[in-house]
Amino acid sequence: MRCTKCHNEATIYIRRHNTAFCKEHFIEYIYGQVEKAIKKYKMFEKTDKILVAVSGGKDSLALWDILNSLGYNSDGLYIDLGISEYSEKSKEVAQKFAESRNLKLHVVSIKDIYGVGIKEIAHKNRKPPCSTCGVIKRYIMNLTAKELQYKVIATGHNLDDESAILLGNILHWQIDYLKAQSPILFEDEAGFARKVKPLYRISEYETSAYCIMKKIEYILDECPMSIDAQSLRYKGMLNTLEKDSPGTKEQFYFGFLEKGKNYFIPEKREIKLNSCKICEQPTTSEICGFCRQITKANLEPLNMKEFILRLKDS
Ligand code: SF4
Ligand code: ZN
Ligand code: ZN
Repeated sequence: MRCTKCHNEATIYIRRHNTAFCKEHFIEYIYGQVEKAIKKYKMFEKTDKILVAVSGGKDSLALWDILNSLGYNSDGLYIDLGISEYSEKSKEVAQKFAESRNLKLHVVSIKDIYGVGIKEIAHKNRKPPCSTCGVIKRYIMNLTAKELQYKVIATGHNLDDESAILLGNILHWQIDYLKAQSPILFEDEAGFARKVKPLYRISEYETSAYCIMKKIEYILDECPMSIDAQSLRYKGMLNTLEKDSPGTKEQFYFGFLEKGKNYFIPEKREIKLNSCKICEQPTTSEICGFCRQITKANLEPLNMKEFILRLKDS
């Protein structure tokens, strides 16, 4: 098979586009898709400070590498969830990546701060680990972006992730989630930072191929808590459809963005905000979701803001 661009021998075939690329032109294709996403949704500019949420997996490291290669000003944030060997390994991989490219990586370790990991906090709260994890990660990401003055938080969600989320939202008619689903989430009423997903046009297969071609070492293991995740089942179903009919995921998700979104328009709501009684961050209740999780788990509600401000000079 020959590269569609230069007719040299191809290294990869993209079934959904019926296109083959050599290494050089595949990388060029990936950069083009990411630039297209950034421009289409006006995600950020070259002068903006971007915080990349890094997990040590292929998507977030590919994203950081792409943004860096394209000349964007990006630092990484790794949140160590204290999930035994998985967290140790993924932190190591993220740190190695940052060092090899001379990039700044902020590390916030839940276990170092609270003495326990996400699993234990969730257990003490009698909550599923992923819901506790979601609240804690969101809080730390927002606080880091706010206190260290990042314009935007970029996450490694790809086409497979977004189409699986969309399938779940439609199957359960989660209207509010359908209104909110987008490659860009603007600053919300609670003053939370803007979040963007520059990889939404790229499949999981393509981010893996990108990492292999750019020799990016990443953690292969999934988080052990994700084993039963519904999203993995949705991904499996979409993979079956994609196998029979290449392009299904793209048609499904891009079609939603272009046509479906017209039926799910977010309304502007007036929300009354308070200062959390413990951490003073904005919240719609008296105590924010993060502080509720920490205090319910009988942990000391330490001042996370002070901890994050210390990252500035580290
Ligand atoms: Fe957190 Fe659940 Fe994702 Fe693991 S699978 S990182 S616990 S949200
Ligand atoms: Zn080529
Ligand atoms: Zn709080």
